[in-house]
Amino acid sequence: MRTFEYAPADDVASAVALLAGAPSGTFLAGGTNLVDLMKLGVATPDVLVDINRLPLHEVTTLPDGGLRIGAGVRNSDLAAHPEVRRSYPVLSQALLAGASGQLRNMATTGGNLLQRTRCRYFMDATKPCNKHAPGTGCPARDGDHRNLAILGASEHCVATHPSDMAVALAALDATVRVTGPDGERGIPLDELHRLPGDTPHVDTVLRHGELITAVDLPVLEAARVSAYRKARDRASYAFAVGSVAAAVHAEDGVVHDVRLAFGAVAHKPWRAYAAEQALLGRPATRESFLAAADAELAAAEPLRDNAFKVTLIRNLVAATLTGLTGAAR
Ligand SMILES: Cc1cc2nc3c(=O)[nH]c(=O)nc-3n(C[C@H](O)[C@H](O)[C@H](O)COP(=O)(O)OP(=O)(O)OC[C@H]3O[C@@H](n4cnc5c(N)ncnc54)[C@H](O)[C@@H]3O)c2cc1C
Ligand code: SF4
Repeated sequence: MRTFEYAPADDVASAVALLAGAPSGTFLAGGTNLVDLMKLGVATPDVLVDINRLPLHEVTTLPDGGLRIGAGVRNSDLAAHPEVRRSYPVLSQALLAGASGQLRNMATTGGNLLQRTRCRYFMDATKPCNKHAPGTGCPARDGDHRNLAILGASEHCVATHPSDMAVALAALDATVRVTGPDGERGIPLDELHRLPGDTPHVDTVLRHGELITAVDLPVLEAARVSAYRKARDRASYAFAVGSVAAAVHAEDGVVHDVRLAFGAVAHKPWRAYAAEQALLGRPATRESFLAAADAELAAAEPLRDNAFKVTLIRNLVAATLTGLTGAAR
């Protein structure tokens, strides 16, 4: 049996200090991903710094009218928050599309962002995998990769990030607030997760001991008309095979502002900047939406068994934007 120390923290400073003193330790939030990985022998921390008592459970309004979401806010509470539902419906929809009611009651904002890939080789400690055992190889490339990446992958790893919530936050220009041994900093959501390159065991730009304290949402007019669309193998309780988060402001049939992000296609939530550029100032028509999707997906490098994701994302983009703008089908 593998033993570990359990260290509950009462405030942010002591949580950061406890982890700084434990190079092989980690934070424990809802535990819905971390504890599973510990049971599988994939995560082997020697210290668990429990952050559930930290005062990070509130959603508050920022001076400019944006929202600050505490890292400890549970996924259920965030999805149901009136201001989130009113001003950022894509976020509420993405959260409700994830996991199950029981899991959402435990899962936190910070933990959801930092959940690990569901690549089956990663989750099996007996298999080689460059992410859980650097240098052992990537069996997924020639093996089971149906649900893995089509964008931004490397020869060393083709994993996808599994979070629905993170895809919505990427589209919304969210900023992740962190506190660590060297103080506080803000990280644009789009820069939090890394592409795998030749160091796929490093998921994010966070340094050891850095605690996510909050996620800030800016005021975003387009976000009021926003939606999340998720394709999955079962109607509920299943990770995305592909997903799209979209926010759009169109007037007189022309796109004035648009934010798009794709899920389950890359090692990170994939902000679709090329598609956005292709749409700005263009007619809000299905034809434009498909052309925009094509502009982004030109960079796709699908594997043997996941080329269907290119068509899937293309259709999800068109369906989501058509639904939001009322464009003719
Ligand atoms: C059966 C099942 C189905 C699921 N389906 C979906 C789905 O469809 N869509 C989806 O998006 N997710 C899904 N999930 C994943 C679920 O959303 C995550 O497990 C959950 O969001 C993780 O949050 P947590 O608070 O439990 O994190 P934990 O498990 O406690 O932590 C996860 C990681 O984040 C780190 N961490 C946590 N909080 C912080 C913080 N504040 N600062 C720094 N590090 C931190 C921990 O150290 C750990 O490494 C599913 C999970 C299960 C078990
Ligand atoms: S895709 Fe990444 S996580 Fe999956 S086996 Fe390859 S290296 Fe491991």
